[in-house]
Amino acid sequence: MNELWVSAPPIYRSAILALAVFGLLSFILLFFVSAPYGRHHRSGWGPTLPARWGWVLMELPSLLCMAAGLLWFGASLSLHAALLATLFLAHYAYRSLVFPFRLRGGSAKTKPWLTVVFAVAFNGVNGVANAFDLSRMPAVEPLIFGFGIALFLLGVGINHHADQLLLSLRKPGESAYKIPYGGLYRYISAPNYFGEILQWMGFALAAATPAALFFACFTVCNLLPRARSHHRWYHEKFEEYPAERKALIPFVW
Ligand code: NDP
Repeated sequence: MNELWVSAPPIYRSAILALAVFGLLSFILLFFVSAPYGRHHRSGWGPTLPARWGWVLMELPSLLCMAAGLLWFGASLSLHAALLATLFLAHYAYRSLVFPFRLRGGSAKTKPWLTVVFAVAFNGVNGVANAFDLSRMPAVEPLIFGFGIALFLLGVGINHHADQLLLSLRKPGESAYKIPYGGLYRYISAPNYFGEILQWMGFALAAATPAALFFACFTVCNLLPRARSHHRWYHEKFEEYPAERKALIPFVW
């Protein structure tokens, strides 16, 4: 990985360092200020747009920039890199074009443009940087690659199952929040985030590239404080919230 970093053009290193600084600042800030969308949405964050379209706009750059980056850099992708590129594209095709249309909560749900603009910038750079790194991914260690892919798929399974449980809490048009039960909700308040983190850790392990590693770290920086905010919010909102449930890591935290 060190060689990939050293041999990369300066613009790539600057972009990755910018993402790292953004991730670190977000991590610190998000412990004090919850990102203002979903249950933490509040006024004072400037103009908004419908949440559904916010999701499409935010996540589409990941799909498009990875695809464009692969067309640009990826003429001779190895089989392993092609598999990782396919998983990345499939995840973001779902997240940008399917997930937003499964959301329930009524058309009144909005998102601040500010959060969308930050996400568009991050996802665009992240998509190109990961495409570039996949195009020059060195030979892999089969066991580590296999373990990484297995972790990615486990993360996807946990994330989708947890999101499915959340989405099924509301009937069409309903917007209230309820206590989720079942699956990993028995142990933690945010299994969808836990799954998402495992997923990108698995991707980073399999790819062993700087861009994949920075993205996995960013995902932790973004979702760990948000899991904490969700957990606290559940305790404030529901007196009967299960006391033994942790925030993000089963039995630990
Ligand atoms: P949340 O868990 O906050 O919400 C997911 C959906 O379920 C929303 O539609 C939400 O409605 C609804 N919901 C949540 N809790 C309840 C409840 N108790 N009762 C009823 N409905 C509920 O997840 P996010 O919106 O933050 O994220 C969505 C997906 O995107 C997740 O899979 C997450 O992992 C992924 N993601 C990935 C990121 C990354 O860095 N890679 C960053 C952010 C998200 P409402 O919108 O009304 O709150």
